[in-house]
Amino acid sequence: LMQLFRPLDMLGWVYRSIRQGLIDMEAMFALTDTPAEVVDAPGARALSVSTGHVRFEGVAFGYEPERIILKGVTLDVPPGSSLAVVGPSGAGKSTLARLLYRFYDPTAGRITIDGQDIAAVSQASLRAAIGIVPQDTVLFNDTIGYNIAYGREGATQAEVEAAARGAAIDSFVAALPHGYESMVGERGLKLSGGEKQRVAIARTLLKNPPILILDEATSALDSRTEEAIQATLNAASRGRTTIIIAHRLSTIVGADQIVVLDAGKVAERGTHGELLAKGGLYADLWARQAAERELEEAAEG
Ligand code: ATP
Repeated sequence: LMQLFRPLDMLGWVYRSIRQGLIDMEAMFALTDTPAEVVDAPGARALSVSTGHVRFEGVAFGYEPERIILKGVTLDVPPGSSLAVVGPSGAGKSTLARLLYRFYDPTAGRITIDGQDIAAVSQASLRAAIGIVPQDTVLFNDTIGYNIAYGREGATQAEVEAAARGAAIDSFVAALPHGYESMVGERGLKLSGGEKQRVAIARTLLKNPPILILDEATSALDSRTEEAIQATLNAASRGRTTIIIAHRLSTIVGADQIVVLDAGKVAERGTHGELLAKGGLYADLWARQAAERELEEAAEG
């Protein structure tokens, strides 16, 4: 039985540490996944972000040596542009994001930001430069204000409210019984998937990172909520180098660059129009999802 409680103890510890500002939010999501071997290189310097140019150069990786997930992936994401990664389930899309955040190191190749190998800079400086809007946002058993303010230590109430406006969650908060002081999480008010995602967007707006990773939720929201969230995400990504891990192609039609990942390799790349014209994997995926969308929309009325 004690075995069962150990993860809960761990969570309690994580929560207390976070309240003390010892570890950052995103690190918590993957805490159990973070291998101890990812450590700062001796004398690692801080990453110096000038424009936010992200490059993957021949990146290979496997969680286990006998099972290679990425087989030489090269990506170039110019400053301020957006790259969407699509592909079948298990293709390695989220793995790309985990490598950029340096939860793991590539087994071959390298990832650079403004020409600096991310394996050579301090992890704290790397993670300060990257904001993540995860698939599933974990809320603390604390006030909604605290949950948003988490994006940046020392944020003022005015800054928290501005971020909430940017994420279009301000009117929702205003309608809560105690406004920003309302308790949320397991022991408070439960938020819907879309509301939680807006909290994550607000946190990210507060953090104001030059590089953004959007890990799109697999579970579909209804199409009206999805459109609203999409608009706030688009606003949040303006002027930032953005990598979108996409499950629904409808959300990435406007991306500057789309990469189709298949079995750990880049199978196709181009804009939405170019990839449709090509009539390959992307065009197939698009046709399939368009048919599903029509069915859903008919069901929604
Ligand atoms: P999806 O669209 O389903 O989210 P994805 O393309 O994002 O999939 P990844 O999450 O990158 O896929 O996973 C790629 C492969 O790596 C999968 O086969 C998965 O089982 C495996 N994998 C992911 N995380 C781990 C891990 N921590 N340890 C071992 N294998 C893992």
